[in-house]
Amino acid sequence: MRRLLVAGNWKMNASSSMAEALLSDILTADIQSCDVAVFPPFPYLAAAGVRLSNAAVQLGAQNCATADSGAYTGEVSVAMLQDVGCQLVLVGHSERRALFHETDAVVLAKTEKILAQDMTAVVCVGETLEQRQSGNAELIVKQQLSALLHQLKEAQWSQVVIAYEPVWAIGTGETATPEQAQQMHAFIRSLLAGVSQKVADETRVLYGGSVKAANAAELFAQPDIDGGLVGGASLTAEEFLGICRSI
Ligand code: PEP
Repeated sequence: MRRLLVAGNWKMNASSSMAEALLSDILTADIQSCDVAVFPPFPYLAAAGVRLSNAAVQLGAQNCATADSGAYTGEVSVAMLQDVGCQLVLVGHSERRALFHETDAVVLAKTEKILAQDMTAVVCVGETLEQRQSGNAELIVKQQLSALLHQLKEAQWSQVVIAYEPVWAIGTGETATPEQAQQMHAFIRSLLAGVSQKVADETRVLYGGSVKAANAAELFAQPDIDGGLVGGASLTAEEFLGICRSI
């Protein structure tokens, strides 16, 4: 059985005091029904790592470098992220794909670095509205996953989480219907079955795109939706914990 995961992507939001207050509320809530992870911006990771050490809440970073170290001004390596307590790293978020030219090749390179460091990669995929309307949603998602499906070894998939995030639903208030999301999640699972049935059965596929406390239960009740990657609604404890408690 796959244990559900609710992951909060804070994006470029918060301050040190807000981060501390949010983490404190999340820790106090002591959620048992699902795994919980938070992805604060880089400057708050070290303090969060201290705050969450020995806690069940997992810590993730929103990005990482493809290089290990050296003359890469502004970059942060996976070893540095692990050093401050991160267990997970987001890869291929649609904002990074669209705004920072994160290609499928870069997504693969980052994922390989993360796995080599024995951390978990949360790999985001999803189509734009135009791609969905032209009937190409599954084709796009298949293309985005193709390199990973071909390059990763079966055992490495235990360190991969996929997040299906239709671009048209991110930060727009528009959520995929549970049926639309389930259909794509089942498709993604069929792609994973091409690696092995074990990988299809065990890899978590999260849904992301305007998840909130009011719609989470319906989405998470779908058989192939294993939790959510939550943006805007992860910035207030009440809403984020409401999502966690909907499981
Ligand atoms: C996200 O950024 O991963 C996301 C899903 O954002 P939102 O929940 O705000 O749509």
